[in-house]
Amino acid sequence: MMVNMVSLSGWSYEGQHGLGHWNKEYPDCGRQHQSPIDIPSNPTFNPSIFMNFNGFEKTKEFSLTLRNNGHTAVVKVDSPNHSVFVTGNQLPGIIFKTMQFHFHWGKDSSSGSEHLVKGQSFPLEMHIVNYNYLAYESIQDAMKHSDGLAVIAILFETTAEDNEDLKPLIEGLEKNSESSIDSLSLSKLLPKNTRCFYRYDGSLTTPGCFESVTWTILSQPQTISERQLNKFRALCDDHGNHLIKFNNRPTQGLHGRKYIRSATTLYNLLYNLKLSHKMSGTEVLIDDRIQLVSAIEIGPPSCRFKVLRRYLVQALRKKHPYLAANIDQVILHQDSAPGHTSL
Ligand SMILES: [Zn+2]
Repeated sequence: MMVNMVSLSGWSYEGQHGLGHWNKEYPDCGRQHQSPIDIPSNPTFNPSIFMNFNGFEKTKEFSLTLRNNGHTAVVKVDSPNHSVFVTGNQLPGIIFKTMQFHFHWGKDSSSGSEHLVKGQSFPLEMHIVNYNYLAYESIQDAMKHSDGLAVIAILFETTAEDNEDLKPLIEGLEKNSESSIDSLSLSKLLPKNTRCFYRYDGSLTTPGCFESVTWTILSQPQTISERQLNKFRALCDDHGNHLIKFNNRPTQGLHGRKYIRSATTLYNLLYNLKLSHKMSGTEVLIDDRIQLVSAIEIGPPSCRFKVLRRYLVQALRKKHPYLAANIDQVILHQDSAPGHTSL
C-alpha cells in the first residue's frame, strides 16, 4: 500500500525516534496515566455500566477511506448526518462521534495487541476512535482534553478460517494506494458480546500521548486468520521501503489507576468458577451453571442477580471457600447499585 510520503510525524517505533525517545519531544508520553496497560486480574466490579454502539451497521451504506499513514492502516468514518456514534453511562460526555478506526500488530502472532489481559497478548488490536461531540469542535481540539476521547479496543485471536467480515478491509490493504472501502459494517467488527468490557482512563498510545482517553476494552475477542494478519504485516512505514514490523507500544504503569468492568463480568466470574472446579477436582454443578449463563445472557438485571445469588449460596454450602471473596464483591455492588431490586 502506498505510504504517506516522508516522515512528517517525527516519531517511530524503533531507532533514534523510537519508543524510548518519545518523551523527549512529546513530554506527555512520560506522564503517569499512559496507555496501553496490562489489565490485571482483580478489576473493580461495576454492574451498572453499559455502552451503546449507534449506527455501526450503517457504515456499509457509505464509502470509508482506508489509508496507510506510515504507522498504521487507518479507516476514516465520515458518516452522513453524524449518524455513527457511541453513548453510555460513565463516559465523560453524552455523544462520542466515531471518526476513524485503525490497527496495531506485531512481527508474528506471539504479540501485536497494545493492551494485555492478565499478561496475555493478542496478535491484533483494533481501536475505534470517538470524540466528545457536544463539548468540542473537532477531534484535534478534543484530544487535548481529559474528557475528549472515548476509544474502543477490540482484541483479535487467530483462527484457521478467514474472517469474512474483514474481507472488504483486507482487500483494501492489498491495493497500492489510498482506497475506498464499500460494504464494511462496523457492527460486524465488534464481537458478539459487547456488554462485557474493561474501562479505565488513559492516553493516546502514539505521540503526543495526550491523557484524554476513556478506554473501553471489549472482553470477547474477534477472529482473524494468519493469512489476513499477514496483509497488515506487509504494509510499509513512512519511508516507504521498510515494513511496519510492529506498531504496538509496550504496556505502561498503572500508577494507582483504578479500572472497572461491566456487569457481565459475572460471565467471567462463572468461567473462572468452572476452572476452579476443575482445579479442585470437585464435581461441577453443570445444570446450575447453564441456568446461570442463560440468566446472565438474556435475563433482566434483577433476574440475573437472583440466579447468581442462588447459585453462589449453593456453591458456598458445598464449601468452596474460594468463592467467598467474589460473592462479597458481587453482593456489595449489587446492593449499592441504584435501580436494581435487592437480591
Ligand atoms: Zn491505536
